[in-house]
Amino acid sequence: MRFLWATATHVGMVRGGNEDSVYPTDPGQSDESLLAAVADGMGGHVGGEVASRTALEAAVATDGTPAHRLRAANDAVVAAITDDPALTGMGTTLTLGIFDGSGTLDLGHIGDSRGYLYRGGELTQLTSDHTLVAELIASGRIRPEDAATHPQRHLVTRAIGIAGAIDVDEESIALEAGDRVLLCSDGLTTMVNDDDVATILGRTPTPDDAAWALVEAANAAGGHDNVTVVVVDVLE
Ligand code: MN
Repeated sequence: MRFLWATATHVGMVRGGNEDSVYPTDPGQSDESLLAAVADGMGGHVGGEVASRTALEAAVATDGTPAHRLRAANDAVVAAITDDPALTGMGTTLTLGIFDGSGTLDLGHIGDSRGYLYRGGELTQLTSDHTLVAELIASGRIRPEDAATHPQRHLVTRAIGIAGAIDVDEESIALEAGDRVLLCSDGLTTMVNDDDVATILGRTPTPDDAAWALVEAANAAGGHDNVTVVVVDVLE
């Protein structure tokens, strides 16, 4: 299988800085493999940027499974806090995919960034949000329609940057030619609903068109947060 990808990141319409990080930074194609990831940093202006960048650099520099890479990312962020206690409290989401030319996508995930599969006109969320509101919905204590206005909707329950063992979600997907995979930060999904994401993915011919159309849609809806996307097309 061959992969054709593009990534986009934008500060949005409100924030003063971009605390998201993305890998790779340039579009490209490969018939061997692709590592792609989105990280959304938190913990103040400087801390958020350092956390997402540090985590991604460590995840990319490490060999092995997504979970192994996320643990290396966690170690790197914890070490950066030890080196500079002013960064205490910083952390980051990390959603990472390894696309193998044999046709497998291995995902590792912590936080509220997301992975989606767009196949045959249907959009499926591949990751679970590690947020308070996702837990409240799962336990029936609030309705899904209340999530967008919940006062603690931004509270993440799992993140990179926590000392000790981290709990990584892992998933493997058998890819098919024609699939389009999306990794994104919550700056997209809090601004653009899944139906509109699916519509955009369905009408944009290339990953580059899709990536920037998604960013433009988030900004047109208010752009309250940094927005970052990776779009990967799977070809025969
Ligand atoms: Mn965000």
